[in-house]
Amino acid sequence: MTTFDEQDAGIALPEDPAYVAATQVFNLAAPVAPAAAVTARTVEQIRAAITYAKSAGLKVRVQTTGHSAGSAKPMDDAILVRTELDGEVHVDTERRIARIPAGTQWKAVVEATAPHGLTAPHGSAGTVGVVGYLLRGGISFYGREHGLAVNSVRAIELVTADGDLRRVDADNDPELFWALRGGGGGFGVVTAIEVDLFATTSVVTGTAFWPAVHARTLLSLWEKWCRDAPTAVSTSFRLLNLPPFPDIPPELTGGTMVCVDGVILGADAVAQRYADDLLAPLRAVAEPVMDTWHATTTHAVLETHMDPDEPVPAQGDHFLITELGEEGIAEFLRVLGEGSGSPLVMAGLRQLGGAMAVPDPEGGALTHLDAAYVYSGAGIPMDPEVAATIAEHLALARSALSRWDTGQTAPTFVESAVQPQGHLSAADIERVDAVRSRIDPRGLFRGDVMTSTSAL
Ligand SMILES: Cc1cc2nc3c(=O)[nH]c(=O)nc-3n(C[C@H](O)[C@H](O)[C@H](O)COP(=O)(O)OP(=O)(O)OC[C@H]3O[C@@H](n4cnc5c(N)ncnc54)[C@H](O)[C@@H]3O)c2cc1C
Repeated sequence: MTTFDEQDAGIALPEDPAYVAATQVFNLAAPVAPAAAVTARTVEQIRAAITYAKSAGLKVRVQTTGHSAGSAKPMDDAILVRTELDGEVHVDTERRIARIPAGTQWKAVVEATAPHGLTAPHGSAGTVGVVGYLLRGGISFYGREHGLAVNSVRAIELVTADGDLRRVDADNDPELFWALRGGGGGFGVVTAIEVDLFATTSVVTGTAFWPAVHARTLLSLWEKWCRDAPTAVSTSFRLLNLPPFPDIPPELTGGTMVCVDGVILGADAVAQRYADDLLAPLRAVAEPVMDTWHATTTHAVLETHMDPDEPVPAQGDHFLITELGEEGIAEFLRVLGEGSGSPLVMAGLRQLGGAMAVPDPEGGALTHLDAAYVYSGAGIPMDPEVAATIAEHLALARSALSRWDTGQTAPTFVESAVQPQGHLSAADIERVDAVRSRIDPRGLFRGDVMTSTSAL
């Protein structure tokens, strides 16, 4: 059992009830089992965890929601700090900046900023943690207009291995600020983050679904539209094999479906024209089985992608791909479409380009992604046999799409602890490592570092 002091700091061992809450993860297929764990609500608790780790010969690992638990290395030699820092999202309407305590999920940021006519570069799911998403790059449905979300970070507060609470920004330790933004983790425990907001209240957003028999025509049309799509529009194309769960409309569960979803900034005549340019040719192929595209407020953007609200088991793969062309489209559908025997619940392409392809000279280690699409596929591994089938099919898809694989990754979409990070050059990996050696010479946070490669 823990001692009195450890209990005071909230540190829990596997036999303690608080351990269960501190080790919960959104990806139920990737449970974590650290030697000890704490749900940290204060800076003092984080410092206590670091002191405890040093005295017990443990490392320190950090999580917020465990959405990325699939990419986490084993933690049996570490104490896990689950950040749930006290405090509210503070919106500075004049500077258009939000200060967000670590542990906050994006839905709370949208709720805090919307009344001011502002929003943030959040992703598709309201349950994703702000800190992990931002530090790993963050691909938003606003991204083609506003860039990778990480470029919006203005300041980061973190407790480093020496127990110091530092505020890092362009003027205070700019080298650490550079490394924190996309460098692959392992610098300390972030306690709060400041992010630029932008003025938007209205969007056109939604999802349209068709039976997969139309997949080839729809994907060809969508891919052509993507090639010179306006930056105000960000979309995705997905193949879905949805299970008959009570919260899923039955008309979507009868077989493989195709869907096109996304967000168009604004709700004026221009936004409506963009919506027509995208959707009219697709709707002309066949009437969608369900079509939720409509003009609305920014709140609705968190519903667009229909991500699960509750933790689910997920096993997936990801890489960034080039434009597919007709040959790539045929291959994509051969391995993942109707009749392919795919056990994946979802296989899809997220549109990149626009501002997400533009380097930010003020940015950090990751500022842009030089690829046409984010490919990701995932299944629900209900048992080891299904898990093996999913793994086999993911490998099959990876091999079939290898001609279009850029060799790069978007860190937020990586699902495996051994997949090398393809987003940093060899020189940048060296530069980030130099910062880690300075800030954490004993490698207390080393386990948090995403696997990197110098293959670029
Ligand atoms: C349903 C769903 C929808 C998603 N949608 C999108 C999307 O639209 N766009 C996109 O880009 N990604 C998306 N993602 C991926 C998501 O952004 C990543 O999983 C991200 O890493 C989640 O951050 P987190 O903090 O919630 O996760 P966690 O697994 O808790 O953390 C991931 C990593 O971030 C670091 N970290 C977290 N908190 C801290 C902290 N306080 N201090 C220091 N380091 C910390 C750690 O290295 C940790 O290992 C989605 C994921 C899911 C499951």
